[in-house]
Amino acid sequence: MRNSTRRVLLVSLIAVAAVVVLSAIVYQLFPFAPADGELVANYQTAGVCLLACGTKVDLKNFDLKEFDSPDQPGSGKYMKPDTLDRLQVARTLAGIPFAINSGYRTPAHNKKVGGTSLSAHTRGHGVDIAANASTTRFKILKALIAAGFTRIGIGKGFIHADDDPTLPQEVAFHYYS
Ligand SMILES: [Zn+2]
Repeated sequence: MRNSTRRVLLVSLIAVAAVVVLSAIVYQLFPFAPADGELVANYQTAGVCLLACGTKVDLKNFDLKEFDSPDQPGSGKYMKPDTLDRLQVARTLAGIPFAINSGYRTPAHNKKVGGTSLSAHTRGHGVDIAANASTTRFKILKALIAAGFTRIGIGKGFIHADDDPTLPQEVAFHYYS
């Protein structure tokens, strides 16, 4: 091998090594924001929540007021952050509006609307999303399950979802009388 060829090879190797090392340093300083798909993967791996994974999702498609118990304005703040994060992931996956029929419920309001005494709504873990068309129902259900909701209820015109760890997991119930 000629000396000049050897020198070109050596310079090329050093250049490649420098790019690799610099990329690693830049990535440490400015980590790329994970895509939604990665957030969901985090969820499913951790099995708990995005907050615990150290990743925060903005509640970009909802206003906290939508989760108020009607008898207590401002009570939407009692929703569990992890539940809201999971709901936002589901909303992003579904790509359609989620109209919230019910979020947090005071025990009094829960009783008034006929909720069970152990309702996840009273602990800020439950939401009811309006769903009438079969295609809408499918999209919402698919997204809720992908986002990690472990408890689903099918009602007339709505879907209940919660991630209350104190209640039976991986269940899909109905409200038929
Ligand atoms: Zn519900």
